[in-house]
Amino acid sequence: MVLHSAQEILSTVQSVKDPKIVITTHYKPDADAMGSSLGLKLFLEALGFHVNVVTPSDYATFLKWMKGNDQTIIFESDPLKAAQVTAEADFIFCLDFNHLSRINEYGEAVAASKAVKIVIDHHQYPQGFEDLMFWDDIASSTCELVYRFIRVNELDHLIDSDCAACLYTGIVTDTGSFRFSSCSSETMRIAASLMDKGIKHEEIFSRVYDSFTESRVRFIGHAISRKMEVLHEYNTALITIDRDELKTFGVVTGDTEGLVNYGLSIEGIKFAVLIIDRSKIVKMSFRSKGNFAANVFAMQHFNGGGHFHAAGGSSFVSLEETVSEFKNALKLYKGQLNG
Ligand code: 5GP
Ligand code: MN
Repeated sequence: MVLHSAQEILSTVQSVKDPKIVITTHYKPDADAMGSSLGLKLFLEALGFHVNVVTPSDYATFLKWMKGNDQTIIFESDPLKAAQVTAEADFIFCLDFNHLSRINEYGEAVAASKAVKIVIDHHQYPQGFEDLMFWDDIASSTCELVYRFIRVNELDHLIDSDCAACLYTGIVTDTGSFRFSSCSSETMRIAASLMDKGIKHEEIFSRVYDSFTESRVRFIGHAISRKMEVLHEYNTALITIDRDELKTFGVVTGDTEGLVNYGLSIEGIKFAVLIIDRSKIVKMSFRSKGNFAANVFAMQHFNGGGHFHAAGGSSFVSLEETVSEFKNALKLYKGQLNG
């Protein structure tokens, strides 16, 4: 893999007259995905560029307050427009993912586009589809990388409070509110610089974390009290959600975010897993502590990947079979999880 500097990437973009720019991010974008995409859009617009953000799918309502959100093109809802801007683009920034499988069918449009593809990302094991790469798997978040991209170009004066709010949001959520090991002193300094741009950090926190619907809170209660299995032998907590429960509690995009973390809050638990029966696939979230690699587990057993401590994967058999495959796979790690 070849890495490129922030200056190299920006000067490549600036070498084209009136370039058409698309920013995209992964399926079911989370706060880091939307924050980095809209933050980068606002910065590039401040430089005078025209930018379209295209997401493969819809995302949680609690992210829709970010500036520029109303212009987002959602591939699943407006495939023709998304395909058109993608085909016409000179540059496509790919944020918070590094494998085309993470953008589902939209990946075909991106792969087919003549545009120069620029990846800005912090996940391990990049696929290598990009032309230019600004990547650091130690970075707390893609928002942190977008901030570094701007600062290395000595253009941080172009970050206004709206752009700062987008970037700050992704840093807060991807670091678990500044508590994960990925949160470095550099991350804190970046967050401080963003606060100096005049953001209202307590409002951002409230929009993201105090905006749950009543049914979401009840669903979380149900999942923890009725659906969590603690496998003490493996220091593992498992939550399984079936299709009926998603319907009964009216679960919508974003409602299951963060649910997997409750398992890890139990003393001694090193591996927490959430398995949800979505209609076509069974989706899995993995979180770990200490030296247990969640992404390696996801990759080896469930067609997935992600970070060392936070990963995801999918399974294409029934929920029951998936749970049983999961429990079988777990046996291989007994030593590591008990250590
Ligand atoms: P989450 O559990 O929040 O959906 O995802 C946790 C992390 O794993 C995120 O960084 C996400 O990018 C990554 N991830 C989730 N699902 C998948 C997947 O199916 N494949 C890969 N490669 N990464 C995933
Ligand atoms: Mn991220």
